[in-house]
Amino acid sequence: MKLTLVQGDITEQRVDAVVNAANSSLYGGGGVDGAIHRRGGPEILAECRELRAAQYGRGLPTGHAVATTAGRLPARWVIHTVGPVHSATEDRSHLLTACYRESLRVADTLGAGSVAFPAISTGIYGWPVDDAARIALETVRQAATDVTDVRFVLFDAAAYAVFEARL
Ligand code: ADP
Repeated sequence: MKLTLVQGDITEQRVDAVVNAANSSLYGGGGVDGAIHRRGGPEILAECRELRAAQYGRGLPTGHAVATTAGRLPARWVIHTVGPVHSATEDRSHLLTACYRESLRVADTLGAGSVAFPAISTGIYGWPVDDAARIALETVRQAATDVTDVRFVLFDAAAYAVFEARL
């Protein structure tokens, strides 16, 4: 597997699948989620609503992943996963691990060879970037997956530097 780091906007990535740091409602939000729905257009939200109606009446659980169209994005699919909110008193790292592992599992079911990840949970959900980078890189490296090209897309220079140091 080729693992690369990119500083930039995940909505611009030309990959088979981009991963969305979604919230469990699947109805959009801030950060990556907002950018993906804004640039991808209403088709993505329409499929998210269908998923809520059909399979995820109570929302997508934390650590799970599900795919929709990527609408107008250059990617083919968006894989939505719900990161854990960081807690100072409870270790939720297994849930962050699950986000990466489940997203790659969904990518395999789609036949996606290339996947772009954001730094899940490091925005609104407050996970320290260094620890999030460790979990992200370890999990992806250890995953049994047919995905051959994994790209971490870091929005700012500081996050990029942290991932680079960990890589
Ligand atoms: P979460 O709710 O899981 O914390 P956020 O979307 O708030 O998710 O943030 C996750 C990370 O994605 C943060 O480091 C944030 O800076 C970054 N980010 C925000 N917008 C984009 C974007 N368009 N492309 C890539 N990364 C982004």
